[in-house]
Amino acid sequence: MLTESDSFAMTQDMNLTEVEKRIEALQRRLTQLGPMHPGSITEQYNVCGKAGCRCKDPKKPQKHGPYYQLSYTWRGKSTTRFVRPEHMDPMQRKVANYKRFRELVNDWVDLEVEREQAEREKERQAGGH
Ligand SMILES: [Zn+2]
Repeated sequence: MLTESDSFAMTQDMNLTEVEKRIEALQRRLTQLGPMHPGSITEQYNVCGKAGCRCKDPKKPQKHGPYYQLSYTWRGKSTTRFVRPEHMDPMQRKVANYKRFRELVNDWVDLEVEREQAEREKERQAGGH
């Protein structure tokens, strides 16, 4: 499967000005991202320990939930914690921003590799080595 980043890497033969314009556009988008947080959010349903609770109804069990969990690994440390329902909207935006941030950074690195190639190409055309 091709990601957006892969398709960027396959873009060939951009000239130096074009590469630099794209890098500047990426840098602008990076500064406009807003709050971010690594990780992913999952929905959990639980069974409790209480006898006769609806979550253990033999015919139609209704588990407790949903509970929302945020899981992430950062600097080698894995963390999972609950997110309150009223914090879900901002947390989802932060998680989406972080994902976007990583995509933009990958695209930026792709473009820096392109820039290097474009600079060498320019030197070659100018008769240098
Ligand atoms: Zn229960």
